[in-house]
Amino acid sequence: MPYKSPVARSEQNRKYRVLNIDRLRLYDKNRVRPPDYHVGRKKYFASWYQKNKKLADERSTKWRLSHPERHRSFVRAWRDKNIDWMKAYTKAYGAKNRETISAKERAYRKLHINQCRRHWKTRMDKIRSNPVLLEQRRRQQQEYYQKNRAQRIASASFYAKVRRARLAGAPGTFTELQWLARLEFYGCCCAYCHVELNRNSATIDHVIPISAGGSNWPSNLVPACIRCNKSKGKRRWVPGFLQTIKISESG
Ligand SMILES: [Zn+2]
Repeated sequence: MPYKSPVARSEQNRKYRVLNIDRLRLYDKNRVRPPDYHVGRKKYFASWYQKNKKLADERSTKWRLSHPERHRSFVRAWRDKNIDWMKAYTKAYGAKNRETISAKERAYRKLHINQCRRHWKTRMDKIRSNPVLLEQRRRQQQEYYQKNRAQRIASASFYAKVRRARLAGAPGTFTELQWLARLEFYGCCCAYCHVELNRNSATIDHVIPISAGGSNWPSNLVPACIRCNKSKGKRRWVPGFLQTIKISESG
């Protein structure tokens, strides 16, 4: 029986569809289609999407939010199916845009340094608390070292050489006794973070770095824990005050 009102007709169609969904699916599955059916269908949906972008995006967002598990499984299935393509694509993209990517990453790190540090710390904590991950990381590091052994040794000895030359070229000398006196003067603590140190764990830190014209005289030396010494780098920290002074290039 024909319906005069299109609203009533579509309502009737909807009801029929809900009631006979299995039959309709089976029919759909077994239907013989013309060979270009999928091409035409794809084209039709593409043009529909171009015309109704906003509506389609809203609908798909709504669906995604109300079916998070199913959405995730779709994404996973797609990724598994196209894993080789994805790997190749990522690799090619990275190779092509290496400069841009690393510049972007550097800029991001500079802007969000605290966030990055938190992220690295969380990741390291996760690895440290899991023996499997720890072992995996150790193996990776070993492999990396073995692969780049010659280069690593060369660069380490180069930097050691540079450092020795700098130390030798700087004015001033000190004896072991004078150094131990400095350590005692600072209460056998790190001059920056005040963690307790002994003569083995203390490292020698130059308050004014040698690279910035500092000397080897005992007055320029303070004990520092390895962490502070490393994180200080070429900057100038004032011992006892958690304060940094940036040294200009001219010194
Ligand atoms: Zn320290």
